[in-house]
Amino acid sequence: MANPILFWHRRDLRISDNIGLAAARQRSPKVVGVFCLDPGILQPDDVAPARVAYMLGCLRELQEAYAKVGSQLLVLQDAPAVALPKLAIALQASAVLWNRDVEPYGRSRDRTVAEALRQAGVEVQAEWDHLLHTPKEIFTGAGSPYTVYTPFWRNWSAKLKAEPVPALVQAVGLTDAELATAQQAGAIALPTAEQLGFAWDSPFLLAPGETAAQERLEEFCSQAVFSYQEQRNFPFTDGTSSLSAALKFGAIGIRTVWAATVSALEQTRSDEAQAGIRVWRQELAWREFYQHVMYSFPELADGPYRQPFKDFPWTNNPNQFQAWCDGKTGYPIVDAAMRQLNEIGWMHNRCRMIVASFLTKDLIIDWRWGEKYFMQRLVDGDLSANNGGWQWSASSGMDPKPLRIFNPASQAQKFDPDAEYIREWLPELRSLDTELLVTGIIPAGDRRACSYPAPIVDHKKQQALFKQLYAEAKARASNA
Ligand SMILES: Cc1cc2nc3c(=O)[nH]c(=O)nc-3n(C[C@H](O)[C@H](O)[C@H](O)COP(=O)(O)OP(=O)(O)OC[C@H]3O[C@@H](n4cnc5c(N)ncnc54)[C@H](O)[C@@H]3O)c2cc1C
Repeated sequence: MANPILFWHRRDLRISDNIGLAAARQRSPKVVGVFCLDPGILQPDDVAPARVAYMLGCLRELQEAYAKVGSQLLVLQDAPAVALPKLAIALQASAVLWNRDVEPYGRSRDRTVAEALRQAGVEVQAEWDHLLHTPKEIFTGAGSPYTVYTPFWRNWSAKLKAEPVPALVQAVGLTDAELATAQQAGAIALPTAEQLGFAWDSPFLLAPGETAAQERLEEFCSQAVFSYQEQRNFPFTDGTSSLSAALKFGAIGIRTVWAATVSALEQTRSDEAQAGIRVWRQELAWREFYQHVMYSFPELADGPYRQPFKDFPWTNNPNQFQAWCDGKTGYPIVDAAMRQLNEIGWMHNRCRMIVASFLTKDLIIDWRWGEKYFMQRLVDGDLSANNGGWQWSASSGMDPKPLRIFNPASQAQKFDPDAEYIREWLPELRSLDTELLVTGIIPAGDRRACSYPAPIVDHKKQQALFKQLYAEAKARASNA
């Protein structure tokens, strides 16, 4: 019996358009999938139950997909540097393959695993899969990584994109005797979220797994993408793809996503529709930009990029932070968004920007508190995108506009003009007039009747205070 090749899945929970898996299959038909429930990822206190449940749902479908093509997906639960070599040695695997990661933890984990496998005499092969262009491909004219999005986009969008790679359609799995050996070496049945200590029973915005992601992509690219430019900022409409969790866990391949945009372009001659596709591609490029900068500047994961924010005098009032988390700030658009996050584990992008600006510029609370809270709740929580979004909102990151401060009332008036989103997530305010909901100027009697709090801060005053603190921090930084 041939020695198996193990393919280690991480954020590529699919059998189609998967570069590392296709490379494994090219080496041998006897390809077996492995997933490792890593306590280094599952124990820290920034893990969202929604994310764990979504991931397990993807793994369940992946196990079925392997069974259909004649092989298996094995599940381990231990530090990968221990569990993978143990399994590879027990099965006498000839090689272990995987797709590379950009995050500091993933990169250092992979180095340790590769070292342990090599010491055990097992060959290792790592591929790039989840980006259209790797951080080793896109550089400024001076040969450095980009720190500004617009020139990155120009360079990135001009480059030729790869086609999807063939799906795994047939493989040879482990024999019963080898399966018994795998179990002795640590392979377990896939646990539930509850067994891992996470409780999540709300419906997902997008069902986990490859099938749902593929269907959503097709649906989005045959319709909503054409009006994406106009619709994407309105949180009450279904104007965005909802593919973020699928992209985070690789339930869909990025080349497949790009190919869908190419087909969409072929279907239309309308300027408006083409603009929609271009703007959606720009969002895919934001995803890649943040992953490239995380790869090239891993220190971003630890704190602010810009000097004035390294020692910023955040107010950090814990009661105000709790009110923000609970959606009880007295600002309806902010509270609606936080309730959406708490209830479904996802928040519309416009609202992520509004609540992030409110936390940092109105409450003057360190953006890292918000970054962590988002990771504790988001089904799509992703270090690069989340850190990038928070640093952008706090003005502490790359590509800063002088000082971006969102006015919650004008944001609501512009993007939720009929207060439909606010009413959806703040049912206690449903009976109030739209004008009161979008301006947030709600008479005290109405507030009391609806058990809705008064605003916990005054936007204008806080805006002035933030600007003053920022000017002082900037002066300190330039004198240092
Ligand atoms: C403070 C803040 C925190 C965020 N945290 C995350 C996060 O943890 N995970 C995450 O995937 N996105 C994050 N985003 C980006 C964005 O809000 C979500 O990707 C988007 O709302 C997901 O919805 P969608 O799939 O319908 O997006 P679409 O509008 O359909 O966009 C398509 C895809 O492009 C990518 N994308 C879109 N916008 C961005 C962006 N600004 N940055 C990076 N990638 C983007 C996502 O993969 C998304 O699925 C954050 C944004 C902000 C302002």
